[in-house]
Amino acid sequence: MIEQVIWQTQSPEETHLLGQRLGHWLKEQEQPMAIILIGDLGAGKTQLSQGIGQGFGIQGTMTSPTFAIVNTYEVDGQFLYHFDLYRLEEEEELENIGFYELTERGKSIIEWGNKFPEALPEEALVLTIEIMDEKTRRFMVTSPIFKMDELKVLGGSYVYRH
Ligand code: ADP
Ligand code: MG
Repeated sequence: MIEQVIWQTQSPEETHLLGQRLGHWLKEQEQPMAIILIGDLGAGKTQLSQGIGQGFGIQGTMTSPTFAIVNTYEVDGQFLYHFDLYRLEEEEELENIGFYELTERGKSIIEWGNKFPEALPEEALVLTIEIMDEKTRRFMVTSPIFKMDELKVLGGSYVYRH
């Protein structure tokens, strides 16, 4: 059974703050690392990504990579690759956009990662976002490499207590 931790936010602002936490964490990781975001339109992928970018130290606005497929940022010599796989049709296209090279080299945010589950890196957090009601979002968090306790610490006050 895959271990899962649930985080929850009650507003877009909280999702942004949660993202900032994740961005700080991502920046501090010594190995390549991806945050994979799965969720319907309006789930909060963009809100969270912008928070992650701020926590990572990106100055200014992050635009959506929907058309570019990948946007690249650099902070203090560290790269952050922000992917949106929504418009890709074939897994082979990942090769052309440098997906494997980049995710193996640096830090990344991958939106719509569920389109190509086989292609995703192992060193990752997988966040499946569920819309609970107008203001509540639940983040089902799994990872091939992190333990539940670590995912709880990472979520901090956003850990959902049943
Ligand atoms: P996506 O990129 O997944 O399509 P967005 O981040 O663009 O989603 O949009 C999320 C929408 O949901 C925004 O309009 C935001 O104001 C609203 N919202 C309401 N509650 C939350 C919450 N807890 N977290 C994130 N967004 C929320
Ligand atoms: Mg979006």
